[in-house]
Amino acid sequence: MITKFIKRILRRDPMVKHTQANNTGAPKRIPKKAHRIDPHLLSKNAVKVTHTLQQAGYEAFIVGGAVRDLALGISPKDFDVATNATPDQVQRLFRKARLIGRRFQIVHVTFFGKGHPEIIEVSTFRALLDNAGDHVAESGRILRDNVWGSQGEDAARRDFTINAMYYDPSSETVLDYHGGMADMQKKTLRMIGDPAKRYREDPVRMLRAVRFAAKTGFTLDGATRAPIAKLGKLLNDVPSARLFDEILKLLMSGYSWAAIQGLKDAGLHHGLLPLLDHILDTGADSKGANDFVKLALANTDERIQSGKSVSAGFLFATLLWPDLLKNWKANSAKGMANIPALHDAMDDTIATQSSGMTIQRRFESDMREIWSMQPRFERRVGRYPYRLIESPRFRAGYDFMLLRCATGELNPAIGQWWTDFIATDVTGQDELMASVKNESGNSPSPAKRRRRRRPKAAVPPESAAS
Ligand code: ATP
Ligand code: MG
Repeated sequence: MITKFIKRILRRDPMVKHTQANNTGAPKRIPKKAHRIDPHLLSKNAVKVTHTLQQAGYEAFIVGGAVRDLALGISPKDFDVATNATPDQVQRLFRKARLIGRRFQIVHVTFFGKGHPEIIEVSTFRALLDNAGDHVAESGRILRDNVWGSQGEDAARRDFTINAMYYDPSSETVLDYHGGMADMQKKTLRMIGDPAKRYREDPVRMLRAVRFAAKTGFTLDGATRAPIAKLGKLLNDVPSARLFDEILKLLMSGYSWAAIQGLKDAGLHHGLLPLLDHILDTGADSKGANDFVKLALANTDERIQSGKSVSAGFLFATLLWPDLLKNWKANSAKGMANIPALHDAMDDTIATQSSGMTIQRRFESDMREIWSMQPRFERRVGRYPYRLIESPRFRAGYDFMLLRCATGELNPAIGQWWTDFIATDVTGQDELMASVKNESGNSPSPAKRRRRRRPKAAVPPESAAS
């Protein structure tokens, strides 16, 4: 009866249409002893969602990246559920369920527990559109993707075989439509269908190929890799916001350095981040910049792999820093004062970046804050340090400054001074402030100015003698 009801709904909704075109062959059913997924790695909430849907008579599976990660023995960072229930039917079954999206609705079911709330994303099986009609741009890129379908069709529209497996927690069975489990064993990343066609439909899949290869350590299957060299330029047609999301996922994958090397190997880095062009193409003569970015990315990867948070603003601030530094130095050489030279350089760097891929505004303001804080770390006189530690983004600015110290761009003694300064009490801070006066060579401009005016007060006799 429920099936009949779904069919009726599907017929009634003009948005819903089935396509006949796709391969919907029977899946391989993989039992527990073959897939060895550890049920302890499952999210209890995801299991609740599949159980509730199944008890109401629907089909429901954990799907996509979560199944891939489970099969790899990794704890998935989020869980998606796929079902044959429509979004309205899903919503009625859960108290905290929200419909998201206009053209193709999905449901976010939220669970509040001890830590952060967990959102389980529930989508109705979707079909792949055939390559006809106004859904496809001239290049083959799919513009709309809003047709519901069977589970087989849902599997066929996914990107890689290892991302197209369905796991039923009740029977502990994996349904595998495209040989994903065999590819897992062969450590191969393989595109479902004709790779060139799939990249034309959605060029972002080329970036995803690089990201998943870096994350899993798998090799791209030859036929999956081959068309990328020729089709990479199609990324230019992808809306900037979408590109940004995917690059962000790549950088936040916990394997960003490997992924960036992968982008270079695939020839995909051009136009994404000017900095990547610069670093990856010029090699030796940009060694300083290369070291800085490498260290920043290694640092990010380490944080992500140990479950710590990373701010995207911070990350982009590091990636664009070498470019900014170059502009800043050029402005100073032209005779601009230090701070205006920095702000002017920030505008230039961001403008150049936006010509490739625009960074979202909220991240841009974080970047500007982190950057403009940098000269302030060198002003260790008067009230400056006390004010600086009170700024809301101090921690990010401080971490950023430490990276600069680690690559030798900034005197490491300054980094150590700040590390001591935030760890100590008021008396200790006063002592540290006094110690700055004894340093030479790293004093910031305001101190220098003061020293020129009142040399005796600024330079204590013992340091003057040494
Ligand atoms: P991650 O662990 O990084 O989240 P993921 O595989 O879950 O990896 P998502 O971007 O969350 O990646 O997408 C969820 C699933 O949706 C994928 O596993 C894949 O099956 C499908 N998918 C996502 N993007 C695409 C795409 N561009 N083309 C085809 N299928 C896609
Ligand atoms: Mg995911």
